Amino acid sequence: MSAGPGLSGQAAGWRLRPLGVARARLAGGFLAERQRVNREQTLPHGFAQLQRSGPLENLRTAAGGDGRYRAAADTSGATFPFLDSDVYKWLEAVGWELGRAPDPALAAAADEAIGLVAAAQRPDGYLNSYVQVVTGGTPHTDLAWGHEFYCAGHLIQAAVAWQRALGDERLLEVAVRVADRIDKEFGPTGREGVDGHPGIEMALVDLTRATGDGRYLALAARMLELRGKGLLGEGRFGAAYWQDHLPVREAPTVAGHAVRQLYLDSGAVEVAVELGDDGLLAAVERRWRDLVQTRMYLTGGTGSRHRDESFGDPYELPPDRAYAETCAAIAAVMLGWRLLLATGEAAYADAVERVLYNGVLPGMSLTGTRFFYVNPLQRRTARAWEPPGHGERAPWYPCACCPPNLMRTLSALEQYLATSDAGGVQLHQYATADLRAAVPGGEVRLAVRTGYPWQGRVTVEVVEAPGRPWTLSLRVPGWCRSATLIGPGGERPRAAGPGYAELSRPWRAGDTTVLDLELPVRVTEPDPRVDAVRGCVAMERGPLVYCLESADLPPGVALEELRWDPRRAPVAVPRPDLGEVVVGVAVPVVRAPSNGPGPAGAGGEEAGAGGDGLSAGAVPYFAWANRGAEAMRVWIPR
Ligand SMILES: [Zn+2]
Repeated sequence: MSAGPGLSGQAAGWRLRPLGVARARLAGGFLAERQRVNREQTLPHGFAQLQRSGPLENLRTAAGGDGRYRAAADTSGATFPFLDSDVYKWLEAVGWELGRAPDPALAAAADEAIGLVAAAQRPDGYLNSYVQVVTGGTPHTDLAWGHEFYCAGHLIQAAVAWQRALGDERLLEVAVRVADRIDKEFGPTGREGVDGHPGIEMALVDLTRATGDGRYLALAARMLELRGKGLLGEGRFGAAYWQDHLPVREAPTVAGHAVRQLYLDSGAVEVAVELGDDGLLAAVERRWRDLVQTRMYLTGGTGSRHRDESFGDPYELPPDRAYAETCAAIAAVMLGWRLLLATGEAAYADAVERVLYNGVLPGMSLTGTRFFYVNPLQRRTARAWEPPGHGERAPWYPCACCPPNLMRTLSALEQYLATSDAGGVQLHQYATADLRAAVPGGEVRLAVRTGYPWQGRVTVEVVEAPGRPWTLSLRVPGWCRSATLIGPGGERPRAAGPGYAELSRPWRAGDTTVLDLELPVRVTEPDPRVDAVRGCVAMERGPLVYCLESADLPPGVALEELRWDPRRAPVAVPRPDLGEVVVGVAVPVVRAPSNGPGPAGAGGEEAGAGGDGLSAGAVPYFAWANRGAEAMRVWIPR
């Protein structure tokens, strides 16, 4: 009963309760297709990469095999110490998938990996292949950079997934011994220590839920309270890099490494909810507002700086130099989901939607076997240099955090769709799905059918329900300017505004509710404080952000020559070349082919001003770089 660690399990303090594993199931449509590709293509690809690039071999070596630790080095020359976590993330994904339906090949691969993990664990419970093979086996000598707790956190999350999805406790036995070893050294009366990379905090809370042992929750709370006391030092990038500059309940804004901040705050929400700590929750909410209002790209990407993978200053959101790591988008979904559960506020579900469709999904190719680490909002036609993974997806990375993070996220997508509470059921994300939820008087079964995100109609049929009244709540996204809700039996349509549209009644099998969300193309202007895109516009439709890509331009036209023509309206157009149901946007443009003499900033002639009727086809941003990676831009100059 309860959703996974990427997703957070049951807690008494959640305002909304996750439906739980196996109570939500994608049954067709867009997200189901992404999940199918993940299961059939990405997970086998991931296992092959884990075999090829070292992580599985490292565990075998730690278990006593012959070999050396195989890993690439980072720019400082240090060998990546965290590769065990990629195995754990992959295992978490496979756990969710096998829980949904068996797959002998995936199960055999997982059995091999689980066997290696268990074999590598020392008799004292310690488990980290890098420390065991490379640094002489003494644990916890480099908490700042060693990622030992971080790896343990991912092991715990994988273990909890296998327990919840399959009732399989092989990994949980390993994880409990790992956590006990950490608790023995760092528990309430022990050494003070926090990891340079947060993540274990949220996992420990879920371990308490999985085992009923409150020590892990207490350890997580202790690690949160110890942050901001300078235990990690300044490091290469300053204490804010790992959120050790201020106490977690005092830091007013997000700061430092984006993934670390968002994982830390995910743990803080978990602890706050379990302990009824409203002050801690309020601190996270405050940082979240700072994040979405001043440091989040239109795509939901966060972390604009390459140097230390960090948030920039407020409104420092350059589209071409965006870092926007795929893991940071995943972390924002994890945090937004937890804040939704904790508060019940629709704005968090709105953010989860934006980040999921435009920040997470672009990280994976449509084939499921290539990945972005960095997600810029602009790629130029002429490029002398760009960092690896910036313009084209790669099959894997020396630091491969993102690919298996995508795998575990996609394998659990259905768990983000809906929640329940004492009054009824809430639908937050729209996809064709079959749902079961506890409501007053028993259990309800719902069949949700929709062409989302291409179409705005969502039909919810009650398949089974107890006789007592309960409330069906349907999110009307913040981007939606016109929505209508038609209740069962011809109940008159009612206009629905942003937030949750609600219908309360004694529902019967066969009752059908229809939500219609209008999906016009929206021309979005940036906040004028974002200097890098001032004077530009972006195209959005429904939850999707669109981009122009050179693959859609006539020969001889460079993307940089095009400017948006505000005299004509953009329109939605079918894109059968990209898929049967895919909707693109025809963007009215004029051509401004060349700069005049003088500095580049002087601008060009509007040579195409007479060329009315010129339009450029924009595609959903998540689908870019699937037809060869050339130039692309989300923000289009006027
Ligand atoms: Zn990553």
